[in-house]
Parts: sequence; C-alpha cells; structure tokens
Amino acid sequence: MIRAESLAPLRRAEEERYRAEHPRSAALARQAEPHWLYGLPMHWMRDWPLPHPLFAAQAAGAELWCADGRRHADFCLGDTGAMFGHSPPPVARALAAQAAGGLTAMLPGEALAEVGQALTRVYGLPRWQLALSASDANRFAIRWARAVTGRPKLLVFDGCYHGTVDDTLVDLRDGRTVTRASLLGQVHDLARGTVVVPFNDLDAVERALAAGDVAAVLTEPALTNCGLVPPRPGFIEGVQAACRRHGSLLMLDETHTVSTGHGGWARVHGVVPDLLVVGKAVAGGMPCAVYGFGDELAARMVQAKAAAPEGHSGIGTTLSANLLALAALRATLAEVNTAEAAAAMERGACRLAAALEAVIARHGLPWTVTRLGARMELQFRPDAPADAAEARAAMQPALEAALHLWWLNRGVLVTPFHGMLLVPPMAHDADLDAVARHLDAFIVACR
Ligand code: PMP
Repeated sequence: MIRAESLAPLRRAEEERYRAEHPRSAALARQAEPHWLYGLPMHWMRDWPLPHPLFAAQAAGAELWCADGRRHADFCLGDTGAMFGHSPPPVARALAAQAAGGLTAMLPGEALAEVGQALTRVYGLPRWQLALSASDANRFAIRWARAVTGRPKLLVFDGCYHGTVDDTLVDLRDGRTVTRASLLGQVHDLARGTVVVPFNDLDAVERALAAGDVAAVLTEPALTNCGLVPPRPGFIEGVQAACRRHGSLLMLDETHTVSTGHGGWARVHGVVPDLLVVGKAVAGGMPCAVYGFGDELAARMVQAKAAAPEGHSGIGTTLSANLLALAALRATLAEVNTAEAAAAMERGACRLAAALEAVIARHGLPWTVTRLGARMELQFRPDAPADAAEARAAMQPALEAALHLWWLNRGVLVTPFHGMLLVPPMAHDADLDAVARHLDAFIVACR
C-alpha cells in the first residue's frame, strides 16, 4: 500500500529538487509574473503540480528540452496536440513553405480537394468543414445538428469534456442536469439545452431520447477527460441505434480517441457517425480542427442554411481554414498520420502498459492500466471504470501530484491531468521502460 503520510514529505523533497534543478525556469517565471495573469499565458497552466512553471525551450519528436537544458521524454505531448511527435518534419517543411506564400486569405488554397480526399481516406466520412480548435468544431457541429433537426437539445455524458463549449459544460447531480459549478462568468442555465446521463447506460440514453427533442448525442467513443472510461462492448453501437430510432444525430468527438488506431475509434470499430470531430493533432499540432459528415446530412445543412435569412450563421471564424492550417493538414494526412505511425504507437504503448502492469503486480497494488491504443491511464482501482462516478471515486490527487513531480524530476513529462500517458510513434524503448522503473521506485519510496 501507499502510505498517505509519506506523500507530503516526499513531495516537499521533490519540490526542493525541482527548484534546485530549474533556476532558469524560475528566473523566467519571475520576469513574466508582472505581465501575465498568474504569470502565465493561460491560467490553467497552473495545473502542473510544480513549485514554479517549467519553461519549454525546444521540442522535437518524443522529446522536450526545458529552459534549464534538461531533456524530458514527453508523454504529455501538449495534451494530444503533439500526439504524432513534436514538429513532425513534413509539417515543419510545409509550414515554412506556406509561410512565405500567404498565411490567410479568406479563400480556399489550391490543396483543398486533395485535403478533402485525404480526410475521407483517413477518417471515412465524405464531407468536411474546418475550424481552428476542437472546441470550435464541436460548437459548430452542434449548431448544424440543431439547425437541421429543428430540435433544441443536446445529450452528453457525465464526465464529458469537449472543450469550451457551453452546451457541454454540465454535470449530473442527484440524477439532474446542472451547469458545471466551476464555470466562470456563465449566467445561463445550461440544463435548458442539454441533458446529461451516465456513460455506458443505454437505458438512460433511451429514456432521454424518447422525449423526441434531442438534436444530437455528443460523446467521445471512450471518455478520456475524467480518467479513461472505455465503452462497454456494443455501447456506442447501441447509442447509434437509439439515435436512429428517435431521429437524433450521433456526433463523435474523436479529438483524443484518435489514439485508438489509424483513423480513430469509429474507423477501427466500423461505426459511421453522423458527425465526427477531430482537433488537436489533426494538423500535426497547428491550430486546426475538422468536422465531417455524410452526403445526406450535407444536403440537410444546405437546406437549413437556405431556409434561414441571410446574415451571420454563428458558424465559422475569420481564421478558420487559413492557408497555413490547410498546409499543415495536408502534410499531416499524407506523411505523419499514417497506418505505419499508428502501428508504431500501438507497439510502444503495449510495451509501456505491460511494464506498468508488471510494476503494479510486483507490489500487489489494486491499480490498473486502462489503454486505448496509444493513450493510457494509470487508475487507482482494480479495473477500468464504467462511468465518470466510478472514475472520479478512484482519483487520488495528492498521489498523482507527487508521482507527476517524481517523474518530471527524472526526465519523464506526464500531463498534469490525472494519470494519462500518450505514446508517440518515435518513443524510445529506454524512455518507455524508464517510466515504469521510476514508478517502481516511487512506490518503494512511499511505503
Ligand atoms: N474534445 C475533447 C475530447 C477534448 O479532450 C478537448 C480538450 N481537452 C477538446 C475537445 C477541446 O480541444 P481544444 O481545447 O483544442 O479546443
């Protein structure tokens, strides 16, 4: 067992070590502090469990060097944006070439047809639109879903995260949908437009859809933002069948679950959703996201647009589909997000998961490694959770923070959010093995 009393002194010692080894990051933090809220460009960068921020100097492939010149094997990968490795050379080359030839023009670039064809080849659906972020793509796809169905509501699952999309930022409390308590500046009752039910609960989905007012069910194929919650076999297919029966659309957000295999979870499992969203890594880490749909839905979208008065649709932003994003998307689809890359990620992830499982078994801990291709989660319970409530109950923030700092001090960078590890195609075996070795030493130190 991990002794809870051992965590605080261990973390203090690790904090001291971190401070001693990162004087330049500390100096950069002091210089930035007067100019930025919390001294950071984004307030939630405070989520890293560190005494002061770590500054990135350079990143390439599976590695990141901090401002103090230390090498980190990166298993955070910008929380998925760099899932295929940092600065993939084909993307860097494409960006450099396009950068000298126009960044944005509010006109399609010449590669448009080629990119559309490549999106269909990789993700399966025939029709596409671009956005700048997964949040935006989700927001826009939700709008289209409501527009074409003429229905007001959205159904999401408890524990979901689809970006800063107000309609999805709800929780399940005592069986009721409520606005997520942590939201800042939200004055609307989000429960008016959204219903939330537990993941893996087909009966609850059926009951919610039976009302006939749900435009779309939006979900990740596996929840990845409250720990990793895999779908029970047949769950997503069951949701799709219920959607069809009740005239709702199935919208899959594959921003994180593209880790499953080439083309993402839906492609690997032969599910064709009505709407599909992919952001973050879709263009190799450049700000870009896509949403795809079928020809029939495309016709309904055209009809809905024609039926509305001329003017703002609330869909799309000025820089969406900029020339630079299109160039990055083209290079990623052609040369980076390949079946070979997916196979390499799977191989590395299997190796890492097996090594972590061996450590857990050696210490007889009631922990598990839940894996979705190249994405895995160390969970402090004996098996994968069935829903967000089970996943939340297994979280141990103090343990996670101490472990993340322990790893970081030993050159292993893990996302500050729960125990999630991402394996890029070019991960080094020595680094994969080191993650498990350092976990082993951590457990020994906590006894
Ligand atoms: N969808 C999912 C599944 C996500 O995990 C996230 C972010 N973690 C988003 C959408 C939003 O992505 P972004 O912050 O890039 O808009």
